[in-house]
Amino acid sequence: MARHRDAVCRLCRREGQKLFLKGLRCFTEKCAIEKRNFVPGQHGQARRAKMVGYGVQLREKQKVKRTYGLLERQFRNYFEKAQRMKGATGSNLMVTLERRLDNAVYRMGLAGSRSQARQLVLHGHIRVKGQKVNIPSYQVQIGDEIALKDGMHENAMILEARNLAKSQGVAPWLDIDPANFKARVVALPRREDVQTPPMNEQLIVELYSK
Ligand code: SF4
Repeated sequence: MARHRDAVCRLCRREGQKLFLKGLRCFTEKCAIEKRNFVPGQHGQARRAKMVGYGVQLREKQKVKRTYGLLERQFRNYFEKAQRMKGATGSNLMVTLERRLDNAVYRMGLAGSRSQARQLVLHGHIRVKGQKVNIPSYQVQIGDEIALKDGMHENAMILEARNLAKSQGVAPWLDIDPANFKARVVALPRREDVQTPPMNEQLIVELYSK
């Protein structure tokens, strides 16, 4: 499947804010937003044009899409699914994205970023209810027990991610068992459980409603 192959820090610079795509680096002075917070490209250092209307809506959609590491078609599918659900489309969209297995692995503190979590899932290192699940988009359910494969417990990347996670907020919809590298889904995430970066999903609804 096609993925974004360019330097991911450029995505943050394009949005003008941290999207936390690179784990530990995002919390250090090496972060590109700390060093050069301007739009990438030849004319990037020119003053950011003030955006209104469509531009603001488009940037918000891009920000959410990039935060969860999705391609346009995938993101659109999530939106259409959110529209078919009961309740506010914007909230449904955010909650559905938050229920992705790769996001749950990230929220558990087993990966420093969603892209690392996606790799863990794709490479078959994650178990759900004892069964290997290698589909990052799998929607976690209440009662699912998500665990890291035994052989990965000493992996350096995992240990670094766990250290990083200690300084981050805990997702209230997960009951995390750090000693055993597992967590149980005790509730479905609510809109207010979706953490940084700040997102205004109503702008995405407006964009796709044109
Ligand atoms: Fe790069 Fe992370 Fe900083 Fe974004 S927040 S610019 S991904 S280091």
